[in-house]
Amino acid sequence: MNIVILLGAPGSGKGTVAGNLASGNSDLKHVSSGDLLRGAVAKGTPAGVEAKGYMESGKLVPDSLIAQMIKDVVAETTGDVTMLLDGFPRNLAQAKILEEMGAPVTSAVLIDVPDEIIQDRIAGRRTCPKCKAGYHVKNLPPKVDGICDNCGAELTIRKDDNPDTVKDRLAVYHSETEPLIAFYREKGQLKTVAGTDPIETVAKNFLAVM
Ligand code: AMP
Repeated sequence: MNIVILLGAPGSGKGTVAGNLASGNSDLKHVSSGDLLRGAVAKGTPAGVEAKGYMESGKLVPDSLIAQMIKDVVAETTGDVTMLLDGFPRNLAQAKILEEMGAPVTSAVLIDVPDEIIQDRIAGRRTCPKCKAGYHVKNLPPKVDGICDNCGAELTIRKDDNPDTVKDRLAVYHSETEPLIAFYREKGQLKTVAGTDPIETVAKNFLAVM
């Protein structure tokens, strides 16, 4: 098993790119910290109960809480697979936790999207609550308005995708997560792809550099 980290602002397309690459490719496994946390919230586990308030206000959940979930997924992932790790690490402390775990990180790929585009991306974002597929009303519409192509469930808008919370999430990204770009650059592991191209192009470029 090896790990490729996806870096990028909220709405940069990390989940869409990783989901697109991993679907139908058993050598790739998409692990999203946000999906793990939303799953825990939905189930009402102790971790989910603790995480809920942080998530709704666009803040990061405590490092130890999300780190434990990631440790569990890393431990249960064996064999010849590449884990596309989306949303973790989110700050330098988490990057160090990942190092201390001895996680086999081979590269960190930044999906680069300017801030001006992010607000619009997130405003149009729709998610399938059942199979987690992601859509966008303009850029990646489902075949039938409001319905998931894969499983027919009704698409939803994430609670933390409202404009006020998005502003807070972007601020958190700049202050907490962006320093990871320099961290992985210094290790010689940073790659960058333009996130403004169509999704198929971003996915293809991502695969080529990772
Ligand atoms: P995402 O789906 O990656 O945008 O994550 C949604 C929310 O989950 C974030 O705004 C945070 O509240 C929380 N979250 C996800 N990943 C992490 C992480 N690595 N560390 C702390 N909080 C996280």
